[in-house]
Amino acid sequence: MTLPHCDTPPTPQEAADLRERYRVERERRIRPEGPGQYRSTTAEFGYFAADPYVPDTAEREPVHDVVDVAIVGGGFGGILAGARLRTQGVASVRVIDQGGDFGGTWYWNRYPGIHCDIESHVYLPLLDETGYVPEWKYAPGEEIRRHAVRIAEQFDLYESALFSTTVTGLTWDEPARQWRVTTDRGDVFRATYVITATGTLTEPKLPGIPGIEDYKGHTFHTSRWDYGYTGGHSGGGMTGLADKRVGVVGTGATGVQVIPKLAEDAGHLYVFQRTPSAVDVRGQRRMSPQEVGADRPGWAAERRENFLRIVSGESAGRDLVADRWTESAALLEKLLPSFRRDGEPDFESAYEAADHATMNQIRERVAKEVADATTADALQPWYRYACKRPTFSDTYLPTFNRDDVTLVDTADSHGIERMTERGVVVGGVEYEVDCLIFATGFSVGVSGITSGKLPVTGRDGVELLHTWADRGPRTLHGFTSIGFPNLIRMGSLQNASSVNFTNILDEQALHAAALVAAAQQKDALVEPTPEAEDAWMETCAQGAPDHEWFHAECTPGYYNREGRGRPNGPTAYPHGAVAFHDLLRRWREENIDEALRPKSGTPA
Ligand SMILES: Cc1cc2nc3c(=O)[nH]c(=O)nc-3n(C[C@H](O)[C@H](O)[C@H](O)COP(=O)(O)OP(=O)(O)OC[C@H]3O[C@@H](n4cnc5c(N)ncnc54)[C@H](O)[C@@H]3O)c2cc1C
Repeated sequence: MTLPHCDTPPTPQEAADLRERYRVERERRIRPEGPGQYRSTTAEFGYFAADPYVPDTAEREPVHDVVDVAIVGGGFGGILAGARLRTQGVASVRVIDQGGDFGGTWYWNRYPGIHCDIESHVYLPLLDETGYVPEWKYAPGEEIRRHAVRIAEQFDLYESALFSTTVTGLTWDEPARQWRVTTDRGDVFRATYVITATGTLTEPKLPGIPGIEDYKGHTFHTSRWDYGYTGGHSGGGMTGLADKRVGVVGTGATGVQVIPKLAEDAGHLYVFQRTPSAVDVRGQRRMSPQEVGADRPGWAAERRENFLRIVSGESAGRDLVADRWTESAALLEKLLPSFRRDGEPDFESAYEAADHATMNQIRERVAKEVADATTADALQPWYRYACKRPTFSDTYLPTFNRDDVTLVDTADSHGIERMTERGVVVGGVEYEVDCLIFATGFSVGVSGITSGKLPVTGRDGVELLHTWADRGPRTLHGFTSIGFPNLIRMGSLQNASSVNFTNILDEQALHAAALVAAAQQKDALVEPTPEAEDAWMETCAQGAPDHEWFHAECTPGYYNREGRGRPNGPTAYPHGAVAFHDLLRRWREENIDEALRPKSGTPA
């Protein structure tokens, strides 16, 4: 791994001063409740309960049939699993989603300004297979949603899909060797295999502000945008806000995208900020098919792999994407356990110098682009690069030069003090707003499976969450577990991740489809041997890099559980996504029997 070059590394005194500044800024924002400062959205809260895109769910007869594979979740994870199963020749596949169509994240999140943060040509999956070439370097959300639909159409996933349907239970029937799938629409059907692709950013969260229920104005969460109220569409044009005082809470990745659009259309915009994002250069522009080499077969796979290697700290040759992710890739070392540091003496001091150089550049950009000195000061991010999700925008900072935009910094009061019927109180001042929009993100990693809303009951009536509570999760490669035959989980657990998540999901989908195909071919159950599961747990436990100290010093956020820390542990494969994908490919060729159990075999 090469760290970004630093022309003028900080002197020891400068480095010490900066560390002290970071500590002070962290203290201004830390709250004793930790992650408990948030609450989940509820049906009673504002506009939340509705699916804004399918307001009237059509009646339908409950389904009582049998399919080969049920896929829970119709985001890119579920879609890719479906596509890869179809390619393996599996005919009977049913996707079920709470939403009214495919798309997952991109179905639910349609706020103005929504864009991909990863280059479109590597984020949008199956470009080689569909022949689609994105127009912009960073695709708007609607283009991404349409691409999800395109894949689902091409791979015949609509045929038996169930939308506006929540899976409420998965129960293994040992004599039938099938899963019994129940839903909130009265369906009770059976599936030989179940793949769960329920996402990691699906449970919107709200700050637990005292008085939040008292507010009488209009309110909603960005993941359920109310265009009926604002007018317009994800490109803007929100005429309904022209005479409104609008407040937005949250300046993270969503806030950075939505705030410039709100500023264009609102009568007046109040931005309530706890911690400023580090806003790096976006560099949005049109890209021609020739520029990305889209006339060559396999161009997209090559570009995706090139990006993955660079952001994983592996050698890759030429940087094809060449954006701020790849240029700052070495600073992701504290987030992803993949970077090789062998033979790099004084790594931490070189890392800190590179970190300071990047963050100084980001802070200088604020000072250059924001005219008012007090506002510019409040927008300066005082923490290390990997403490918070990096963001990218060419329009966010200049937004604060508008007369109709007010930044309300809440750091001194550790967040918003309270809400009233009319608005928001910060530092004893009440800001009256007609509409308050929560850009406050999600309970990261929480899904129905982890929260218990979707109970999964395996062999002998054993519940998945009970086994996890007793011993912690135990898996082979993150996909399969003893006692839960023919259940394959996708997502982030005991596997490897990357900043381009669809790349990760596609490799998982290939693996899931290969497991199903192998089990069908060998007339076996998908279930790991005890030896294989034990060995994988050992692999995950060993070699996890120690980043605990780093995150303990970070400003509070979801990366460090709001300042509580980010414990090391056997939660991930310690050598990163490139090595993990190689390992999976080899394992499928040589050792796939470790995940197969004869149907007549007695479980251990
Ligand atoms: C605003 C936003 C921007 C993002 N930008 C990027 C980016 O630039 N780059 C990147 O790599 N990642 C980005 N992400 C992360 C993004 O979530 C992933 O890239 C990817 O789309 C996740 O796909 P998924 O299938 O795992 O989950 P999701 O897309 O979340 O899909 C899961 C689906 O499961 C459904 N579901 C859950 N439980 C049930 C149930 N019990 N019954 C029925 N259905 C259920 C949900 O309704 C949902 O549709 C972004 C996320 C958000 C929220």
